Parts: sequence; C-alpha cells; structure tokens
Amino acid sequence: MSDTAPVVTRIAPSPTGFMHIGTARTALFNWLYARGRGGKFLLRIEDTDAARSSPEATQAILDGMRWMGLDWDGDAVSQSANAPRHAEVAHQMLANGSAYKCFSTQAEIEVFRETARAAGHSTLFQSPWRDVDPATHPAAPFAIRVKAPTEGTTVIRDTVQGDVTIRNDHLDDMICLRSDGTPTYMLAVVVDDHDMGVTHVIRGDDHLNNAARQMLVYRAMEWAVPVWAHIPLIHGEDGKKLSKRHGALGVHEYQAMGYPASAMRNYLARLGWSHGDDEFFTTAQALEWFDLGGIGKSPARLDFKKLASLTGQHIAATEDAALVTELQGYLAAADLAPLSDTQVIVLERAMYCLKERAKNLSELIDKAHFCLTSRPIEQDVKSAKSLDSAASSLLSELTPHLQNASWDRDNLEVVVAGFSESKGIGLGKLAQPLRAALAGRTATPSVFDMMHVLGRDETLARLADVID
Ligand code: GLU
Repeated sequence: MSDTAPVVTRIAPSPTGFMHIGTARTALFNWLYARGRGGKFLLRIEDTDAARSSPEATQAILDGMRWMGLDWDGDAVSQSANAPRHAEVAHQMLANGSAYKCFSTQAEIEVFRETARAAGHSTLFQSPWRDVDPATHPAAPFAIRVKAPTEGTTVIRDTVQGDVTIRNDHLDDMICLRSDGTPTYMLAVVVDDHDMGVTHVIRGDDHLNNAARQMLVYRAMEWAVPVWAHIPLIHGEDGKKLSKRHGALGVHEYQAMGYPASAMRNYLARLGWSHGDDEFFTTAQALEWFDLGGIGKSPARLDFKKLASLTGQHIAATEDAALVTELQGYLAAADLAPLSDTQVIVLERAMYCLKERAKNLSELIDKAHFCLTSRPIEQDVKSAKSLDSAASSLLSELTPHLQNASWDRDNLEVVVAGFSESKGIGLGKLAQPLRAALAGRTATPSVFDMMHVLGRDETLARLADVID
C-alpha cells in the first residue's frame, strides 16, 4: 500500500448480538485513523452466517455507531449481498491455478483426521485433489480450496505486533467456496476489503491467525495487502479477558448508565492507545493525535473509576444545549420518562449550576430534580424535618425581602445573607428550610442557584406552600 494513497478503514461487525464495547473501541480507532487523515471510514455488516445473524443485532450496531458519533461513508454494506462476487473470485482463483476443486466428502475428511490423529500426525486436512488433472474430475459437488504453500513461512507485517511469522505447514488449503456454492468468511473478508478499497485493517488481535490465512487469498489474487494493525483485546479490571462476568459488555448499557458519547470516545480511545500523558481530551484532539504508533502491545483494562472521572470532565465541558440533548438520549436509553418542552427550557437554564461535579448523566438528572419537579414539592424524610414552625416563620419573614430583590444569583445571595445576619443566625440555618421548600431534598445545588433558575414567582410560590 503506498503511503500517499487516501486512507480507507472499516469496521466489520458480525450482527450476532448487542454491540460489544470492544467493537465500539475498534470502530473508534478506525474512525479516528481515517477521519484524522481526511480518509474514508466504512461499515460492513458481516452477516454471512445467516443462522447467527439477526436484523435486531444489525440495528443495535447502527444505533450504537450513531450514538457514539462514528459516522460512516456511504451505506452500510451487507456482506451477504456480495456472495455472487465472492464466488466469482473463488472461480478466478481456480482459473489462475491458485485454487483447486476438492471432491472430498465430509466423511472422507473425518477418516483422514482420525487416521492422522491415531498416527500422531497433523490433523490439518490434505486434500488428495490438490494436484489431480482436472480432466479426471468426477461430475460431483466440489469445494474450492486455496493452494497454501507447504514449505517456508508467511510473515504478517503488523503495525502493532511487529513481524509475526507463521509456518506454512500450519496453514491448510482452506475452503473458499463450499460445495453448496456459498463463500466462507475467510474469503468474503478479503474480497470485500479489496473491493471496498480498504487500505488499513485495524481489528482485534483475535484475528491475527486469520490474517495469515487471508494472506493466501491476497497472494492468489495478486492484490495489495492492507496495512494490518491487530490491537490487543480489552480485559476486565481483574486483568482477565472481558466476559459476561465483568458486566457492561454492550455499548447500549453504557448509554443507559448515563455516560455521554463524548466521554465514551475519550475513554475508549485511551483503552489501548495513548498520547503522552494526556487523559482528558476532546474528539477534535483525538482526531489530530490518533496514530497507530500510540497503540500499546498489552491488553488494556476496563477501569470504571477512570471512566467516571473523564465523564465528569466531559459533562462540565459540554455546552448546555448539547448536554440537554445528551440527557434526552440517556433518558430514552434508560427507559425513563422523556422531558417535556417546559422541562427542556428550564433544564438548559439550570445547566450552569448542575454540570460541575456530576459523574454521569444519571447524577446530573438527579441534581436537576428541583427544576424538573412541580408544586406541591414532595418532601423526602430528611428534608421534611427542617420544616418546623420556627423555620416556617423565618421563611415568612424572608419573603418580603425576596419580593423586592432584583433577581440575579449574586444579588439573591447578598439579600439572603443580609437577612440571616440581621436575624443573628448562620446562613446554613436559613439555607436548610429554604432548600426544603424549593426542592424537598437535602442535597441540591446552592439555594441561590435554585432561586435564580426557578425565578421569582415560582420561588415565592414554593415558599408560600411551606409557610403555615
Ligand atoms: N466480523 C469480524 C468480527 O466481528 C471482524 C472481521 C474483521 O475485522 O476482519 O469479529
């Protein structure tokens, strides 16, 4: 591949379940690499295995990609739709002598394997048809197998792993086209990557062995081999390979837990890739910095503490209106009630005092309770305790001061502080019942922010509600 060719990357997920967090990370790496270089990023749904693929899983992939903000060029390609083209290539390999028709039946292959096992030989199937004169072929169903070299080695030049050498006697003459005419996955991947003009294949290192076999097809067709970058898989916090046991495997789960897409992009980019000591960065910075050289050789570990800390920083740094949109996506993903139009407006007004120190969107919505709820304000047990008769008369005395105050946050603070001083009580003593009246809770944003966001009429109405 020439260094000057425009970069084309792809993500090629198999639609067999939810969208795995590892797939999201691989997609992100490919997206960053291409988009950061003005290249193309493609999406191919690898649905050749019809029995395991489902339309729901495809939809989950499309939704997950959209949520993550990983836009792809053109339409998503369905691998199964390319089956005729895969077959065509298999026949071209036959024609150029790099593949052959194999008439061995499943039963014969089994016998071969058992005999080999008993004799302590390699059980890799060696077809008796490899060098047979086609003139003597029977009129029977056949598979098309690639002729793998039997001696020497195949070297995968991998950008992450370095040169990986595989002994050719460990490669079998793999089937490219089955006797029923359907292509194998190994053939389909190579044909599609070639036809889609993919220049860089960035994917999990569980595909490293496949690369050696896929190389056979590239060689047979004399196609340029893409740049390979096999990235170490994500491990759990305990250092073991990610499994159900670790929980949170699906992208959707992260959305439903209240992690915004910007934070996920930052966090997933750092999962196996680094740029100096940078932990918190924007997507624009990631696009500028991302390079294959920054990918590490050892598996990255999921770290929810780090995710939470990055999330807090991203929430604080996000524009108010954009955060409201993120929140709406979160509520839908978490199956929670959507925001009304009025709530959207007040939430955007309140955002300035909510977004600092919220570790995720669920915490953010919780902090927003005071402006999303409506009168009469329901009191939680702790909050109700601060509304005794002494508190009630304090609030009643405060009311006229608020009626005349100019309604901005700082002035409200001056007015309330001045009042508490005139009463010879600490501000805290007054803030407690005020908090209860405005929010019905003990943990809220500052009372001045709440009053400012709610406005004069609503604030006074909430106070009147708790004054006997
Ligand atoms: N379909 C494969 C998977 O979901 C990816 C194949 C590839 O990236 O080459 O693991």
